[in-house]
Amino acid sequence: MDTNISRTSARDAQSPVFEFPDIVVVGSINADLVTRVPKHPEPGETVIATGSLYAGGGKGANQAVAASLLGARVSFVGAVGRDARADVALVGLREAGVDISRVTVVEGETGLAVVAVDATGENEIIVIPGANARVTPADVAAAKERVEYTPIVLTQGELSVEVIDQVARLTEGRFVFNAAPALDVSEETLAKADPLVVNEREARVLASRLLGSDMSHKSAHALTGYLAPDYVRSVVITEGARGCTFKVGDEDPSTLGQDYRVIEENVVDTTGAGDMFVAALCVALGRSSEMGEACDFANSAAAQTVVHAGAQSSYFLAKRVNEASG
Ligand code: ADP
Repeated sequence: MDTNISRTSARDAQSPVFEFPDIVVVGSINADLVTRVPKHPEPGETVIATGSLYAGGGKGANQAVAASLLGARVSFVGAVGRDARADVALVGLREAGVDISRVTVVEGETGLAVVAVDATGENEIIVIPGANARVTPADVAAAKERVEYTPIVLTQGELSVEVIDQVARLTEGRFVFNAAPALDVSEETLAKADPLVVNEREARVLASRLLGSDMSHKSAHALTGYLAPDYVRSVVITEGARGCTFKVGDEDPSTLGQDYRVIEENVVDTTGAGDMFVAALCVALGRSSEMGEACDFANSAAAQTVVHAGAQSSYFLAKRVNEASG
């Protein structure tokens, strides 16, 4: 990678530098351009948006912001481009107090997600990886001391397979892998995941690939049994409004989350709920919760975000609502 945001520039950004973070996130950083459209365009059609929002995004950044707002000390390893978009992409990380001294600046553009949400809440997303595609295993090695010594190391599927495999290899603590999207990482990487966190669709893709047969009609409950303990130590499958199903080793799977269900009429935007779920799970595991307790906390935290618009913006709003209600 080209240049490092030096510790000095991180200090310029008034980002705290933690000697001992609770969680290291190695992940993607995007600017999200979210448009509201009455309907998605057909090929060749132009539609006029009724509103737009330009904010920080990327699964890595979303999860880091969420974990920091939940009280964890979070350090981030990733990259932005040398462009104005980087400021938008980093604003939430800075505001949430995430240590961004290991975010490097590379030539070229910052990652961008162009999102269109229609009147039914259905979204279409185009991602330009930009700087995220230029994070290398060497960048992870450069942050080796953090990856080795931090109790929780979290990554997602938005960086290259080589980078994710390197993160898994160097992690001495607990490796939490959110395989979103379901990249073809090595079996050694999967074997280290504790837990692997996926939504139902990702779980089906992964299980079909690993077992070499069509798993597209299997339930989350059944899928956990195919994945743990044969391929991962533990697995958590998120199931939208139904909560999640988890399985640790060869214990029986459990489903949790009905208590927090937000009914459809009250759901404003589920974007970023999955990222809050993963972040909250890591925060709870970092505080020595059992998997069941951690999943309960994650369901509760994620449910609170679906009544607000946006991803990172919904986390800041949920925190304010919580503070106001004491
Ligand atoms: P993704 O958006 O990554 O596909 P899911 O749709 O499975 O993820 O949602 C992630 C988590 O968000 C769920 O496990 C649940 O905790 C929470 N969640 C999503 N939708 C709702 C809802 N309507 N009510 C309560 N919680 C929800």
